[in-house]
Amino acid sequence: MPAGVYIHIPFCKSRCSYCDFATDVYRNDEAVERYVSALLKETGANVGAGLVPTREDDSLRSTQAGRLRSSPGHPSLITHHSSLASDTIYFGGGTPSLLSPDQLERILEAVRERFEIAEDAEITVEMNPATVTLEKLKDFRALGVNRASFGVQTFDDRSLKLLARGHDADDARNTYELLRTAGFDNISFDLIGGLPHQTIEGWKANLEEAVAMSPEHVSLYLLEIHEGTPLAEQVRSGRQPLPDEDLAAEMYEAMLERLDAAGYEQYEISNFSRTGRESRHNLKYWELDPVIGFGVSAHSFYGSKRWVNARDTLAYVRSVECGDSPVVEIDDLPEKQLKAEFAFLKLRLNKGLDLADYRERFGSELLSEFGEELGEFREIGLIEISESTLRLTDRGRLYSNEVFGVFV
Ligand code: SF4
Repeated sequence: MPAGVYIHIPFCKSRCSYCDFATDVYRNDEAVERYVSALLKETGANVGAGLVPTREDDSLRSTQAGRLRSSPGHPSLITHHSSLASDTIYFGGGTPSLLSPDQLERILEAVRERFEIAEDAEITVEMNPATVTLEKLKDFRALGVNRASFGVQTFDDRSLKLLARGHDADDARNTYELLRTAGFDNISFDLIGGLPHQTIEGWKANLEEAVAMSPEHVSLYLLEIHEGTPLAEQVRSGRQPLPDEDLAAEMYEAMLERLDAAGYEQYEISNFSRTGRESRHNLKYWELDPVIGFGVSAHSFYGSKRWVNARDTLAYVRSVECGDSPVVEIDDLPEKQLKAEFAFLKLRLNKGLDLADYRERFGSELLSEFGEELGEFREIGLIEISESTLRLTDRGRLYSNEVFGVFV
């Protein structure tokens, strides 16, 4: 199964008030260049304490200066060294569109040296409004970037201000035009719902504008308040109201209806696309396929192992510069947990879980293991079980966490 490659670029122009991601404000070019150098070293080295196969024999690698040492307490976990194929590369952040074309090119070269990249690979860069010029976008296209994940969030200027997004709705409209002019024909919008002060009418107006612009893909996020963020403090002190959960559910349903009418297919609880424009990279997470991550706080999954890099940018850079692995945590998932994750990740997809896939992967029958509890959810109309498939119903997608609880 080809792996996905994830590259984390932590820098943003400013920090949004709700943001809980591993991000840093873009202070100067030197800091970014230092980070990119670390990324190149990590990508090119036998990273992750030998967690994944290298492209060359390890004995050759071990003579190279760029090889990273195993993390203390994390011995080598894999013994074969065949090359690893990949058909998706995803630059996430942060704001990867702040990279220069030259930096992006060097990172892509390092990834291509490390992995067998499919000719038709999906290469996505997350982009924020007002962070790119037409020239830069054309350069990105020329380097093979063929998908833009575009952080529109909302077309309401008041909400953008409240979220401290650092751009307004016109910036989003203008950047979208630039993307199309530069030849991007696969664009995904991120929209965020359930905001303080947001009304259902406001949300519907957002949807209308998004649909009129006709991106190939739409992802919905509902606002979560994370401890330690400025927004959490504003909510606690009463300066902003708590998002209304019932209203958020209403927004979700309005979105299902409007996007369906506009010809988008829902393929995952929060994701909608034109036919054939699903996010191939994100599907790997829901299919529990291997994904190898590089950069600060990057998560990886391969075989039964999951590992994560240092969350602090300076700690990440320093460890790689010293020749140490940036991996700070490795879990070898027991079969019980793998089964649970396989089941609830697949259930997020509208096509559901193929019972034969489960049998092939684990050598056991899902319905013998979880059938009793699942039967109760079938009775109340949250899931459908056929001979070959287990799926959430439309109503079940609204209460998915209840159903997922069966597997945890
Ligand atoms: S643009 Fe995204 S990653 Fe950057 S601060 Fe805002 S929410 Fe966080």
